[in-house]
Amino acid sequence: MPELPPNEAPYYDAEYETMPRDRLRDLQFELLTETIALAYEHSALTREAWDVAGITPADIRDFDDFREKVPFLDKDAQRRYRDNRGDPFGGVLCVRPAELTAINSTSGTTGDPTLVAELWGGGFAGRPAIMYRDFWGMGVRPGDRVALFLFTFRGATYGFVQQLGAVPLLFDYGVEEIERLLRASLRHRPTALYNFGGTMINATAAIAERAGIDPVDAFSSYRGVVFAGEPLGARARGLATEWGMHLYEHSNVGDVTGCFECSAHDGMHFWEDTAYVEGIDPQAIDHRDAQPVDGDRVRCELVATALANRVAPLVRFRSDDIVEIDRSRCACGRTHARIWTIGRKGDEIVVDGVSVLPIDVWEAVERVDACGLGLFQIVRPQRQVDTLRLRVGHDGVAANRLVALAEEVRAAVLTSVGVEPEVELVANEELLRLGPPHKIPRVTRK
Ligand SMILES: [Zn+2]
Repeated sequence: MPELPPNEAPYYDAEYETMPRDRLRDLQFELLTETIALAYEHSALTREAWDVAGITPADIRDFDDFREKVPFLDKDAQRRYRDNRGDPFGGVLCVRPAELTAINSTSGTTGDPTLVAELWGGGFAGRPAIMYRDFWGMGVRPGDRVALFLFTFRGATYGFVQQLGAVPLLFDYGVEEIERLLRASLRHRPTALYNFGGTMINATAAIAERAGIDPVDAFSSYRGVVFAGEPLGARARGLATEWGMHLYEHSNVGDVTGCFECSAHDGMHFWEDTAYVEGIDPQAIDHRDAQPVDGDRVRCELVATALANRVAPLVRFRSDDIVEIDRSRCACGRTHARIWTIGRKGDEIVVDGVSVLPIDVWEAVERVDACGLGLFQIVRPQRQVDTLRLRVGHDGVAANRLVALAEEVRAAVLTSVGVEPEVELVANEELLRLGPPHKIPRVTRK
């Protein structure tokens, strides 16, 4: 059990969270050296890629070597390896499967889910970081209760709550659990809720009313409510504000580490002793022509290398995620970088020369009352198209109002995106069936 700081300490691990960046960089290189030695030795996928590139760990003497010589790895390569070789872990596992203490899976929004291997105690080098530092920063302290609303990652997730000296309350991620959450919140007064997205917040309003519970009371004990997976729409954000929720956004960093907003709410921190993160020009073909994008808050493609994962470390994982990164010191005093997620490269559609990502359409769709849940799909048969086609969910308006509604959506999108779309309207329930339960694919081929 890691030792806890005194209750009044603002940081869980002051030394690491506020480490000067030159020291952090040295520490990263030390961890990077260990990671690549391990992956080269035990991960068949990494080993094969390095053999093709004609390099070994001895060739990597500094970050420049790493950037110039080390090939990228991506999810397709992992899936290919998995399907061709019959290895469910896609060639990245560095321990024997029998040593694992948990196997999770991703939610599979953008393809079939991939497995995430865990080894409790000993899986991570160094100090507790992800979740520990973030929840302490949010105000969770020993003796507190923490509500966990979980979907694909359940398992050991509650362990970090216990190690912070707090008690987990467990719920399944689903609308049918919301009433139980509200009642348990009134009874046990938890201080943090993880993870409660836009769909859940929107559903809570009606459920609370039916149950005769005031959400303001139910959520008044929470110091932080974490949401993840998708941007939060204006409507959900409005409800959360009305109920006095302190929202914290959370996401993942190229499947290698997590990122969380801090109290400054200005981007999500990722702990740089858990990942070495690079930004590259998204147009790069491979590592040999990949131009680094180092400027703060410039759109780039995320490439991440695990630094604290001794079980299935990904080395130079090219994520397909378009992000912005800022490495300057945050107002909260931490020195670790912050990230903003913009979208997936594979989701970009170019309409008559204008680049459009789902995030660009989102706000326009939500502004239309009957489409306030913000459910929509971009129909993307290929990257370049002449017309932007949208499938948009509505909350059951009458058939004779659909033409007027489509016109309203068209006008809203034209105003925000600068492109006039073709709009197909479908009922929200129909779109939600495209699941996984908490989010829908925002881009579809047809
Ligand atoms: Zn911060």
